[in-house]
Amino acid sequence: MKAGDFFSDAEKAAIRDCILEAESRTSGEIRVHIENKCSGDPVKRAGECFGRLGMHKTAARNGILFYLAVDSRVFAVFGDSGIHEKADEGFWTGISARMENYFREGKFTAGLCEGIREAGMQLQRFFPAGDQNPDELPNEISFQ
Ligand code: CA
Repeated sequence: MKAGDFFSDAEKAAIRDCILEAESRTSGEIRVHIENKCSGDPVKRAGECFGRLGMHKTAARNGILFYLAVDSRVFAVFGDSGIHEKADEGFWTGISARMENYFREGKFTAGLCEGIREAGMQLQRFFPAGDQNPDELPNEISFQ
């Protein structure tokens, strides 16, 4: 199966809406990248995808990528330097732990939405939305 077919159109729309909602609270930017296989370290791979997607091009360096390799059943949450300057390790483990509970049951859309919601709330603490809150990165899922 192509990675792009892993989610139905309705599921893709639900995830996109979740990103939109989460980004309404914060100047942070959230993206989701899906691929089939990840042979190496998922965090390293997520970092590569982050760079390839140009996610470091945010004003406050506060982008977060949710990376999921569906066949390999691994995922990673990768954030930019602006977040690492402000947030401690618990920021990431809290998000990942919530998602893992869903992923273990095969609920990938629900898990991603839960992670995205949590990321939005956490980002709001450090990067609240200002009067201007431009959408700096696309909200569509990227597939490979
Ligand atoms: Ca966005």
